[in-house]
Amino acid sequence: MGTFIKKLETKCPECGTQLTDPETKYCPECGAPYLPEPQLSRGTAIWIILALIFVFPIGVIGALVAYYDLNKKKEAWRQERLINAVERG
Ligand SMILES: [Zn+2]
Repeated sequence: MGTFIKKLETKCPECGTQLTDPETKYCPECGAPYLPEPQLSRGTAIWIILALIFVFPIGVIGALVAYYDLNKKKEAWRQERLINAVERG
């Protein structure tokens, strides 16, 4: 998880100037070309984390609901079988 959130602050490889603009192509101090490593943007990381936070409970709730539903169906099936058995005498 920790690898998703990388600090966006970057330094110029030539002079070490802090490059605050993530879109920058050249260092504003020495003009050295700057090619940042492609990395997951903070927005994407936040969306992934939010999706995990929201999707995980939905998955758990879905599993619980499915399990509860199955139990109810099994219960109904058992009762139906009992009724059938009684009717057959
Ligand atoms: Zn520089």
